Amino acid sequence: MAPVSTKAILLRAHPYGETSRVLRFLTEDQGLLGVMAKGVRGRGGKGATALSTFASGILTVYVRPGRDLHTMQDFACTRLRGGLASSVIRFGGASSISELVLAHVETEPHPGLYRAMESALDRLETVPEELAFTAALAGLWGIVGSFGFAPELVTCIRCGEPLDAEEIGRFDLAAGGVLCARCAEGSPGPRVGPLARGQIQALLESRVSDPVGHARRHLALVSDFVAYHVANRPLRSLRFLGEALPPEPEA
Ligand SMILES: [Zn+2]
Repeated sequence: MAPVSTKAILLRAHPYGETSRVLRFLTEDQGLLGVMAKGVRGRGGKGATALSTFASGILTVYVRPGRDLHTMQDFACTRLRGGLASSVIRFGGASSISELVLAHVETEPHPGLYRAMESALDRLETVPEELAFTAALAGLWGIVGSFGFAPELVTCIRCGEPLDAEEIGRFDLAAGGVLCARCAEGSPGPRVGPLARGQIQALLESRVSDPVGHARRHLALVSDFVAYHVANRPLRSLRFLGEALPPEPEA
C-alpha cells in the first residue's frame, strides 16, 4: 500500500502511549483524517515542533479505507503559526474554529473548507491585536459559510421582503436568517439592526478592517447559530473565548 500526500492542517493532538500521538488533521484531499503518529513524543527537536496544533504542511499517510485511524509516515510543516499562541483571543479563536470544523464531521474532501480554514488561521495570526477578536468571528462565519449555512441577512426569511436600510429586524435562529420588523413581532430572537447586519455580512466575506462593536452579542449569535445548525451543542472553545474578552459596558 502506497502512502498518499496531501496538504493538511493539524487541528488537535492527543498523547498516546509513551511515545505516540493521535492527531486530527483537516486535509485538502481527504477531508478530516485521524492519524496515529508513532514515536513522535519524547524526542524533542524538529519533529515535535512541527506537530504543533494549527500548523499547516504536507501530510504523508497510509490511508486504510473504512478505518477511523490511519498511520502517519511524515508531516512536513510549511507554516507553524506560532503567533496564534501570542494572545488568549488568538488562541481561543483558533481553537473555536478547529472545534467547529471537528464538530461538523465530514470525511469527504472539501477544498472550499480547507481554503477557508487556511485563510482564517493566517488572518488570526497576523492581524493587529485589536482586530484579533473580529478575525476570530470572521473565521467562524467563514467556515459556517463554507459549510453552506450562511445566514440570510438581506431579505426577510419569512415574507421574502427586503429589509429597509434603517429597519430593525430580529434574527430567527431556526430559520437561519433575519425577520423584517413586521414578521419579527413576538419573535424571541436577538434584534439585528442595519449595523449588525452589515457587520455579519462583512465577517462572512472575511472583511476585518474595523473591530466589531458589541463583541459579546456577536459571540452569542455565532455561538447559538453554530450550536443550532452545525454542532448540535455549544462549542466549549467559544465559552473560553468569551471569558477572554475584556468587560464591555452594556449599551
Ligand atoms: Zn417579513
